Amino acid sequence: MMDIFYKRSKEHGLKITPQRTAIYQELLKAKDHPSADIIYKRIAKKIPNISFDTVNRTLLTFSKIGITSIVEGYGQPKRYDPDMNTHHHFRCIQCNSIIDFHNKHYDDIAVPEEINKQFTVINKKVVLEGLCNMCRRR
Ligand SMILES: [Zn+2]
Ligand SMILES: [Zn+2]
Repeated sequence: MMDIFYKRSKEHGLKITPQRTAIYQELLKAKDHPSADIIYKRIAKKIPNISFDTVNRTLLTFSKIGITSIVEGYGQPKRYDPDMNTHHHFRCIQCNSIIDFHNKHYDDIAVPEEINKQFTVINKKVVLEGLCNMCRRR
């Protein structure tokens, strides 16, 4: 899992520092599509002198070099996803949980012709929205 981190960093001339490594490892462990703030809080327990700004900038850099993706914003703080494999999201409109799911059918959805003409599509994701189990019970 760390291979892509080393490989892409090298390709993009990004120095591999202990802080960057720690941020990436923390992100890899996360299954909840955390915001920069959440990652910062988790990492600060291990590296107390790290700043929020460093974490925030590093996550944006990771997105630029293609080792993490930014989940649709909806006016919320950006949420990060370390899983670069094809998958889709269910988002709870109440608590903002983002849950991964896989579906072969969705993977194969064709990009509309007019979109392909105007834009370069690099990622296709289906987002389903509704209430998660926890919120449905309330
Ligand atoms: Zn919910
Ligand atoms: Zn995801």
